[in-house]
Amino acid sequence: MAVRQIRILPDPALRRKAKRVSDIDKSIQGLVDDMVETMQVAPGVGLAANQVGVGLRIIVVQLPDEDVVVLINPEGVKRGGERLCEEGCLSVPGYQGELKRSVWVKVKGLNRHGKEVRLRGEKLLAQVLEHEIDHLDGILYVDRLENRDKLAP
Ligand code: ZN
Repeated sequence: MAVRQIRILPDPALRRKAKRVSDIDKSIQGLVDDMVETMQVAPGVGLAANQVGVGLRIIVVQLPDEDVVVLINPEGVKRGGERLCEEGCLSVPGYQGELKRSVWVKVKGLNRHGKEVRLRGEKLLAQVLEHEIDHLDGILYVDRLENRDKLAP
């Protein structure tokens, strides 16, 4: 396992739409291990593969005192509600802003063994899942701010 360098805005890797993973081979397993370690060392609650410069649809999420969630080719299935969130991003260090996120989301994807998993997240977990899946489409939270003037260090 190794800590990889996190790409910082305006790195173009953050704006590219990531491609689906077709084969969960050894290199993908290594990438997932590195992403988990990179997220934990940062520390952060989530990381998308393009944040370490790899244009593949993989996210890792870990809320405080919870297990690591690995989702390969994650997709939002359903979402509901709306709430105002404070948010930051490892690729936009030192800043926070306010935006609206869903109260709950249902997502599906593959786990690291290639098995389909479905996950329902509320509040912070929903927020992180939406944030990380956005990354895979080249979208950053700063694109969704309620009021750009409120982006604050
Ligand atoms: Zn982020």
